[in-house]
Amino acid sequence: MKAVRIHEHGDFDALVVEEIPTPEPSPGEVRVKVAWAALNHLDTWVRRGVPGHEFPLPLIPGCDFSGTVDVVGPEAGKFEVGDRVCIAPGFGCGRCQSCSSGRQNLCRRYGIYGETVDGGNAEFAVVNEENLIPVPDDFPLDIAAAFPLTYLTAWHMVVDRCEVKSGDRVLVHAAGSGVSVAAAQIARMWGAEVMVTAGTDSKVAQGCENGAEFGVNYLTEDWVKAGKRWTEGKGFDIIVDHVGIDTLPKGIWALAKGGRIVTCGVTSGAEMKIHFAPIFFKSLSILGSTMGGHGEQLEVAKHVFAGRLKPVVAHRFPMEEVAEAHRMMSERGFFGKILLQIDSESPASE
Ligand SMILES: [Zn+2]
Repeated sequence: MKAVRIHEHGDFDALVVEEIPTPEPSPGEVRVKVAWAALNHLDTWVRRGVPGHEFPLPLIPGCDFSGTVDVVGPEAGKFEVGDRVCIAPGFGCGRCQSCSSGRQNLCRRYGIYGETVDGGNAEFAVVNEENLIPVPDDFPLDIAAAFPLTYLTAWHMVVDRCEVKSGDRVLVHAAGSGVSVAAAQIARMWGAEVMVTAGTDSKVAQGCENGAEFGVNYLTEDWVKAGKRWTEGKGFDIIVDHVGIDTLPKGIWALAKGGRIVTCGVTSGAEMKIHFAPIFFKSLSILGSTMGGHGEQLEVAKHVFAGRLKPVVAHRFPMEEVAEAHRMMSERGFFGKILLQIDSESPASE
């Protein structure tokens, strides 16, 4: 089969498209004929490498993907050949207390396709049967690949960690990123009001089309002041942050009493100075979040398939242009998800 593989970490040329043996499913696994895959920031980390962290190279990246069941392995039987599926990217050991209570992301042996084992940037992928999510017949496979990781991440941040409720004022940074698009839609679905920040006026406008009531270009306007005005001086109930040093220390000052700031990443830098006075004075919470549980993944899928949450596709690339797709990802001039068409015969939905 044809696959994208990383043999050594590096720049865009670290992504090698090559012929390798087609994998066979082990017990409890199925083989999926991959139709579409979506890029995530995780793919960038996998390509470039992370100091002090070892990836199992050579590795096929790709944590988000969709397709059809191709071979049902031994001891697997909940799906049939030809079933349309997308993949829940995370898996636990299946036996520990965290896994048993549906909080797989807290499992000590938590793994993600495309990071800890081979993922879906290949014509075929083998996955645990438990990780398959059935896709309704009338739902396009490209969109089915575009939501699992980011919507799970955003759902866990906004719903589980921050306990969003109707009427909350929610700030979502970096409006165009996959997690932010999902977080804004999820907060709206729960009846919250959303403000977004972005680095261009067009992304601010797209953020408002995506459901935000208000948006600020952080390069031309002070988002803390704008947020104070927008919340009538009260401050935000929730801030969704994956930017880090550029936004999080200021965000502490922009929260309302009892406010929560939740982080799932630090793209601008991890080490920062935080003033603790407002944290106790205003009873604030700083919450960390990574991925989510399988029940949350299925809940998110239900809302996506029903059209209540709508993944936004920025661009589609053929698999052979995976390096170009990663380049676009690194340049950040896009809004929503970047997709890879793995099966050239699987139609694009628009
Ligand atoms: Zn476990």
